[in-house]
Amino acid sequence: MKKSRRVLCFFAVLAVGFLLLNSASQDATVSNAKADVLSEDGNRQWFKGNLHTHSLWSDGDNYLEMIALWYRDRDYDFLCFTDHNVLAQSKNRWVDIAKKPTGKDALRKLKERFPEGWVDERLVDGRTEVRLKTFSEVNAKVGQPGKFLLIQGEEVTDRFGKYPVHLCAANVKDLIPPMRGESVSETIQKNVDALISQRERSGQSMMIHLNHPNFGYAVTAEDLMRIRGEKFYEVYNGHPGVNNSGNEEHASTERMWDIILTKRLAELQLPVMYGLATDDGHNYHGIPSRKSEPGRGWVMVLAAALDPESMIPAMERGDFYSTSGVTLTKVESSSRGLSVEVQAEAGVDYRIEFIGTDSGYDKTSKPVLDKNGKAIRATRRYSKDIGKLLAAHDGPSASYTFTGTEIYVRARITSSRKHPNPSEIDDYEQAWVQPAIGPAAVQAVN
Ligand SMILES: [Zn+2]
Ligand SMILES: [Zn+2]
Repeated sequence: MKKSRRVLCFFAVLAVGFLLLNSASQDATVSNAKADVLSEDGNRQWFKGNLHTHSLWSDGDNYLEMIALWYRDRDYDFLCFTDHNVLAQSKNRWVDIAKKPTGKDALRKLKERFPEGWVDERLVDGRTEVRLKTFSEVNAKVGQPGKFLLIQGEEVTDRFGKYPVHLCAANVKDLIPPMRGESVSETIQKNVDALISQRERSGQSMMIHLNHPNFGYAVTAEDLMRIRGEKFYEVYNGHPGVNNSGNEEHASTERMWDIILTKRLAELQLPVMYGLATDDGHNYHGIPSRKSEPGRGWVMVLAAALDPESMIPAMERGDFYSTSGVTLTKVESSSRGLSVEVQAEAGVDYRIEFIGTDSGYDKTSKPVLDKNGKAIRATRRYSKDIGKLLAAHDGPSASYTFTGTEIYVRARITSSRKHPNPSEIDDYEQAWVQPAIGPAAVQAVN
C-alpha cells in the first residue's frame, strides 16, 4: 500500500471509530454484554416492601396483625417488623390498654377485624390487658406464602453518649442486644459485626442497615463511610422527626450518600453503599396526622421469589430501588452508564437527574464551626465536585453514558406530584436509583 493510501485508510478507520463512538454516546440505552438489567423478565419480579416498622411490642400504637393487614391491604409484598430491642417471641407479653394513648381505639379495631376468638384479654385489678401475639402467630394468621411475606426483625437501639445509634436487622433468629462502642462509628461497627456473626453461625440470610443518620444529628458521613460489612443506610426515613433534609449545619442524608460513595469508591477501597427508603411507622390511627405513619417510603426489590433467601442477596447485589411514590419499570447499569425508565402516570411529569463525582474532585474538607469558631459534630463540608449534577432530563426515561472520569453515577427521579402524606412539608414523590460504579472507581474486593 502506498503511503498516501495508508494515510487515507488510517483516517477512514478513525472516522468510522468516531462515528461508532458518537452513535454509542447518543444511544437511548446503555445496553451491552456486561449490563445489569433490572426489569421483570419471567424469572424475576418486583416486590414492594417496608423494612422498618414499630408496633405495641415497643413504641408503636397498633398490634402486629393489624399493621401487617394495613400493608397487605395496600398491595405490599413484604414487611419486616423492627421493634426496639425486642423480638416478638414471648407468649406472655400483655399490654394495659389504658396506658396507651390509642389503646381503646386499637383494641376496638382489632376485635372488628378479628371477631372470632382471636383476641386474648384479661382483667387485672379492673384493668383490661391484651396479650400481644408472637411473630409466629401473626405470620401463620396474616402471612401468605408466595403472596405476602412477613419478616422477623429488630431495631437494635443503641447509643453513644447522647447520640442515638439505631440499626434495623432483618430476618434475625436471635435478639441482638445493643453492643455499645467507644465512638459512634465503633457502635455502628460492633452491631454490624454482631449480625454478621449471627449470620455465619446460623447460615440464615439476614441483613442490617443504619437508620435515620440525622435523627439527633447522631451519625455523620465520616462515621458511616468506614463501616465494613454493611451496605445499607436510610437515605429516606418517613418519620417526621429525623431530619432527612438536614439544616444549615448538617448535611442532608442524600448529600451524605454522595460523600460516602465518593470516599468509599475512590479513596477507602470499600464497596458501594446503598440507599434505602423506609417508613419507621409508629402511628396507625387517624392517618394522615403528621405523625410517624406507614406508607411514606419503601423499597422495590427485583428477585426470583418472595422469600428472604432470594431477596436479601438481591438487595446485597443492588437489585432494588428506593421510592416515596415513583415507580420504575427498568434500571440498567453497565460499564457504559446508567439508564432509567419510569412507569409514567397520566398527568404526572418526571425529572430524572444523574448525580455523581468525577475522579479529579477536590479531596479537601473542612469542619463545620459554631459561632465561636469551634468545630461541631457534623458531616464535614466538602467541595461541590462531590455529588455533582451531571445531567438532567425531563420525561419518563433517560440514559447517562460515562465519559470515562466518573467514580459513580446515581439517579434521582422527582415527580411533579406532591407526596400525599409527606414526612417533610412540600416533599414531592421521588425515587432513588442505586449507584452505577463508574470507570474511575477504585474497585473494592467485597
Ligand atoms: Zn430509630
Ligand atoms: Zn424505628
